[in-house]
Amino acid sequence: MEEIKNKTLSELNEEIKNLGEAAFRARQIYEWLHVKLVSDFDEMSNISVSLRQKLKENYEITTLKTVRISESKIDSTKKFLFETKDGNYIESVWMQYHHGNSVCISSQIGCRMGCKFCASTIDGLVRSLSAAEMLEQIYEITRITKERVSNVVVMGMGEPMDNYENVVKFVKLLTCPEGLNISQRNVTVSTCGIVPKIKEFADEGLQVTLALSLHAPNDEKRRTLMPIANSYSINECLEACDYYFEKTKRRVSFEYALVAGVNDNEKEAEELSKLLSGHNGHVNLIPVNPIKERDFKRSDKTRIFAFQNKLEKNGINVTIRREMGKDIDGACGQLRRRHNEEARGLGSDQGCI
Ligand code: SAH
Repeated sequence: MEEIKNKTLSELNEEIKNLGEAAFRARQIYEWLHVKLVSDFDEMSNISVSLRQKLKENYEITTLKTVRISESKIDSTKKFLFETKDGNYIESVWMQYHHGNSVCISSQIGCRMGCKFCASTIDGLVRSLSAAEMLEQIYEITRITKERVSNVVVMGMGEPMDNYENVVKFVKLLTCPEGLNISQRNVTVSTCGIVPKIKEFADEGLQVTLALSLHAPNDEKRRTLMPIANSYSINECLEACDYYFEKTKRRVSFEYALVAGVNDNEKEAEELSKLLSGHNGHVNLIPVNPIKERDFKRSDKTRIFAFQNKLEKNGINVTIRREMGKDIDGACGQLRRRHNEEARGLGSDQGCI
């Protein structure tokens, strides 16, 4: 059965007409699904019983089961582990900032990009998520926290550009004025750098922020960390980012995870400055979250500040990502891995951080 939450309002209009119903019903149904966030056709009280019956026969309403919520004692960050209808696990993170509430969502179950420092990719890709499953992460968190989400980052498990159609659909549904109406400017999509898809994304006419996971100042180093670097060079990525800026006027965010002794020395900061000067964007430094399956360590504070200083002196805009929920399982994919391991009886006390 089709997932009704995958339908845009205009698609729903068509569907409802095909069911022989008045078009204004589509808007009412859309509101129940995307504003009132109901999960059952029978809750749609202004829809006739006969139309509800037709809807039940033709569509399903996507839901996620909340399996676990971990709450940080340091800040109010919450991590959610959800179970999909087909029994897979995905994770999302809820963060409170002074400017509003932000949710980090997953776009796939697992990932096939193979980045060396990332937990999401270790067991490969299971499948991509539907637009409805991406939305539902935000909707379910909204139901539980009873607070409005104002910012969304697609930086959880998975590579959004490897699930392109559904991610674009998701962004349109999420930012639809008749739905949750989150501002496109408050949505960030992060990619490891699938160049043709970045260009296609630039042409979508959206106003979302693009983040490029760079993590190295040259191709040679990048190839040791990210297999995608064998397919596209940094220059090709930057050219695609320039095109993105040209089309959207949105400054790109260059993500750089600092790994001790791997990509964090002074020379590399210098090289990164040269690489990025003249490109519209800013660098976001992320102290790497060590994962137990790999031997990567985070750079110490002195190194991180020295790296930041160097970039600043060279005129590059740079921020250090504030760490949220440090005490409740680190980077994307770790919560799910831990849950799967526990289910397989591999023990739970192998702290990730
Ligand atoms: N696949 C997308 C989005 C998901 S990852 C991408 O590559 O951008 C979101 C960000 O977290 C990426 O910049 C990714 O490289 C980074 N990341 C993954 N594992 C990490 C870890 N252990 N520590 C710090 N950052 C990590």
